[in-house]
Amino acid sequence: MNIRTQLTLSYIGIVLLVLFSLGLYLGSALKGVLDKRITSELEVQASLTREFLIEQLPDKFTYEEIDNLVDRLGEAGKVRLTFIGSDGTVWGDTERDGEALIAMDDHSTRREVQDAKNFGSGMIDRKSTTTETKYRYFALPVERNQKLIGFCRVALPKETINSALGNQQRMLLYTGIVGLILAILIGIFSTGAIVKPIKKLTQITQSIAGGEISSRVEVKSNNELGQLLQNFNLMTDRVHEQIDKISVEKQRLETILNNMNEGVLLVNGASEITYANPAAVIMLNLPDMYVGRALIEINRIPELQALLNEAEQSADVAYAEIRLGNLMESEAEVTIVPVATESEYVIVIHDVSHVRKLERIRADFVANVSHELRTPLTTIHGYAETLLNSSTKSKKRKEFIVKILKHSARLSRLVSDLLELARLESGDVELKRSQCHLNSFHEPIMDIFEPVFDESELILKWDIPENLPQVNVDHQLLMQVFINLIDNAVKYTPDGGEIEVSAELSGTNSDVVNEVVVHVKDAGIGIPLESQSRVFERFYRVDTGRARKMGGTGLGLAITKHILLCHDGRIWLESELGQGTVFHFALPIIGQV
Ligand code: ADP
Repeated sequence: MNIRTQLTLSYIGIVLLVLFSLGLYLGSALKGVLDKRITSELEVQASLTREFLIEQLPDKFTYEEIDNLVDRLGEAGKVRLTFIGSDGTVWGDTERDGEALIAMDDHSTRREVQDAKNFGSGMIDRKSTTTETKYRYFALPVERNQKLIGFCRVALPKETINSALGNQQRMLLYTGIVGLILAILIGIFSTGAIVKPIKKLTQITQSIAGGEISSRVEVKSNNELGQLLQNFNLMTDRVHEQIDKISVEKQRLETILNNMNEGVLLVNGASEITYANPAAVIMLNLPDMYVGRALIEINRIPELQALLNEAEQSADVAYAEIRLGNLMESEAEVTIVPVATESEYVIVIHDVSHVRKLERIRADFVANVSHELRTPLTTIHGYAETLLNSSTKSKKRKEFIVKILKHSARLSRLVSDLLELARLESGDVELKRSQCHLNSFHEPIMDIFEPVFDESELILKWDIPENLPQVNVDHQLLMQVFINLIDNAVKYTPDGGEIEVSAELSGTNSDVVNEVVVHVKDAGIGIPLESQSRVFERFYRVDTGRARKMGGTGLGLAITKHILLCHDGRIWLESELGQGTVFHFALPIIGQV
């Protein structure tokens, strides 16, 4: 049942109740008033008739005389009139004439007659034994000269009284019905006026619940309902403002979380993931539908689960360095922070693989550099000491001095390579760039390597197309790149082999040609797969003894890589053991094609 029907029904109920009680009260009050009025009318008529009879009645009378008088008076008063003698004989009656009148029984025992005799008047409602009709009787004694000569009785049929009463009651009922109809109409109208704004409010709340937060109610009046609507609009405005604020905060937080390098996860008390930022998804290799799934079930890392348990038990921040299988170097600093009151935990994963790798490289570098410096220094020291011993023959002395020279030259090469590398790595190398064609490097290279090629019967195939665009490079540094790569190719290619230098245009994106790629290919020993990613590290050698014997410092490729990085270039390799190696390097040619 809707509120309007409810209000209308209760309104009608109240009106009905009021009308019913009013009807009951008025009905009985009306009956009493009417009853009294009829009785007093009877009384008045009886008194008037009595006065008339006292005046008109002859001393000696006959039935006929009295009955005629009684009939006339009764007709004038529109009542039943009876004159009863003091002995109870009925002398005249408007209802009986002639024989019938004479035959009427003794009326002295009638209650009203007795009351009139004893108390001066008598009134009663009863059925007439004469006419078998219900009457209201009113009797008065008729006295002349202090002597009772009879009773004058006026009677009104009950039917007449009841019909008068019925008429009044009917009038009351009709008025009640009209009042009720009016009340219903007013009720419907006024409940409509109350319910309309409530209905509007309901519609608006529904549309707000459906997401239309900008909906507002139209306020037409200033009464309590109008104020309610006004307050509702104000409240919605506040909610709108708060939602705006929250969504801005949410967006801000989302941007931060989405762009963080650290992985951030939220798990509930049952260790189920409720949120993971993109970094966390990658770090833990989470599947698409990870929300609601237990962390341990998706990513079996017992240390992570143990750390979570620790945070749960201590209700405090837990921290550990954990190996995560999916990370490159798989080392991560994991911090778990319990969220107060929510029984949720924030897991922050910081990938420290890179830092650890750098730390390792630095430690390796120090160890390597010390080793590389110590070896020639020890040798030089040894030979110098021996030379001090004057007994050494002059032939040997020369040999020792040559060795000292050789090792000091190696030392100086090592130191200058290290300095060069440090300079390149520092990033503040000023490149003396100039436009040049890659073929311009052919002749100087041949000048350097021709004797070696002749000695080892190696063939250098230089195959760079003439129509290749020029590159904007530091000529001297790029020369170093060619020297390092060709020198390595020579060192690791057996005598009689072929070294090929070629180049082509290429693009990082299939539609755009934006770089020149140079290939230095040899038919040498090749580089094992596990070493391929490491040969660009400082001092890394595949075969340390062999490489050192070859005279390398172990810094050539590191320097090469950094020269190319300074030119915004790249270097990579392909190699197969026993088949040979191809070093590829790319140089950008932006805006030149
Ligand atoms: P090095 O001075 O020892 O040559 P590099 O940095 O130039 O140092 O090279 C690092 C290591 O990479 C070498 O020691 C060698 O083991 C390997 N290497 C480099 N170039 C080649 C190649 N063309 N064929 C096989 N191995 C190579």
